[in-house]
This record gives sequence, structure tokens and C-alpha cells, in this order.
Amino acid sequence: MTEYTVSVDLEACDGVFACLVRDGRFAEAEDGLVTLPDAERSAGRLTATFDDDEREAAEQAAAACPVDAITVHEVEP
Ligand code: SF4
Repeated sequence: MTEYTVSVDLEACDGVFACLVRDGRFAEAEDGLVTLPDAERSAGRLTATFDDDEREAAEQAAAACPVDAITVHEVEP
């Protein structure tokens, strides 16, 4: 397993929710934008770190986002 960070630019996110069907961890927040479990939200950016084998799903969500709001980064050990 590899630790990785999923980050969403909330200023770019427009609530299309193409990401939700690719990765079930993405969910609609109360403000109509996207959220992730245990995510930190600051300066218009949502960031969550995971250590599991679901990175592929996060990459698919990132690829599906029509405004390229999602980025997935591996965390260097
Ligand atoms: S697919 Fe992109 S724009 Fe749509 S809700 Fe997800 S992050 Fe936001």
C-alpha cells in the first residue's frame, strides 16, 4: 500500500459530481461542493491523506473531473 494525498481545488469544483461514481469516498457537502472523509479544508482546498489500495479509484475520479479540480499525489516516505 502507498500513502497518497487527494486534493480538490474547491474554487474550480462546480459540483458536477462525476467523481462520486468513480470513487465512493467523494461525497456532496452541505454547500453543494465535494468533500472527502477526514479531509482538511483551508484556503479553498480540500485535502485528505489515505493509506490503502484505493488510489486507482481516486485517479479515476481525478480523470473524470471535467474541470481538473482533483489531484492525487504519492506521499514520499
Ligand atoms: S467531478 Fe470535479 S467538479 Fe465535479 S464534484 Fe467532483 S471535484 Fe467537483
